[in-house]
Amino acid sequence: MKVLVPVKRVIDYNVKVRVKADQSGVELANVKMAMNPFDEIAVEQAIRLKEAGQAEEIVVVSIGPQQAQETIRTGLAMGADRGILVQTDELVEPLAVAKMLKALVEKEGPGLVLCGKQAIDDDANQTGQMLAALLGWAQGTFASKLEIGGDAAKVTREVDGGLETLEVKLPAVISVDLRLNEPRYASLPNIMKAKKKPIDSTTPADLGVDPAPRLKTLKVTEPPKRAGGVKVGSVAELVDKLKNEAKVI
Ligand code: AMP
Repeated sequence: MKVLVPVKRVIDYNVKVRVKADQSGVELANVKMAMNPFDEIAVEQAIRLKEAGQAEEIVVVSIGPQQAQETIRTGLAMGADRGILVQTDELVEPLAVAKMLKALVEKEGPGLVLCGKQAIDDDANQTGQMLAALLGWAQGTFASKLEIGGDAAKVTREVDGGLETLEVKLPAVISVDLRLNEPRYASLPNIMKAKKKPIDSTTPADLGVDPAPRLKTLKVTEPPKRAGGVKVGSVAELVDKLKNEAKVI
């Protein structure tokens, strides 16, 4: 089975994001970028499937600027076999990403697409679901455990009341949650080896997809500054503040 893993290049999660002065978006110039953390978990899971003899080839795909090659290389250094860059300098929305992934799925014929549950930049949580719908495939979202057996996958999902286990028929799209695994660090020899692994390059036009945005961002603003905390002298004062200042009781 071939596994396709879409990996997005996003602002590194350690970076404090700054809003642009004109409120049109967030500052991306000279900001450290990295692989979306949920996508690292997806790559890790694909590698574990390969190590268990349940997957033969892992293909990582990134849709983004030329520099998204670095994100692909990170996946290759972790253990993926080859990469595909869909190069575009536009900000691509989940529907366009899903359409491009659909075109690649039709070309590559994977038995499984393992994606992140959400990208930490747009927080959309849409791409995997849209891709499954466009392909007419089964989907298992927010997997915190995954077992492959024959032509089906068992997906355990964290839901409000506990854990839900679903069986989905393969091929399927499965999106991964935080607790599925702990991604490995790439070792130096694997980073060197990854430099020789192939990365194909294509474009949205080659895949027959128009990446033009359908949504218009009206404005992006900083979250309100948190006021400092205070110590209260007594329970009565606390109750009074909760009632009259915070107005929560
Ligand atoms: P989203 O729907 O934007 O929250 O993204 C969910 C998942 O879709 C991500 O964790 C990635 O696996 C995949 N994805 C979204 N955008 C891209 C992109 N530009 N390139 C590759 N994968 C992407």
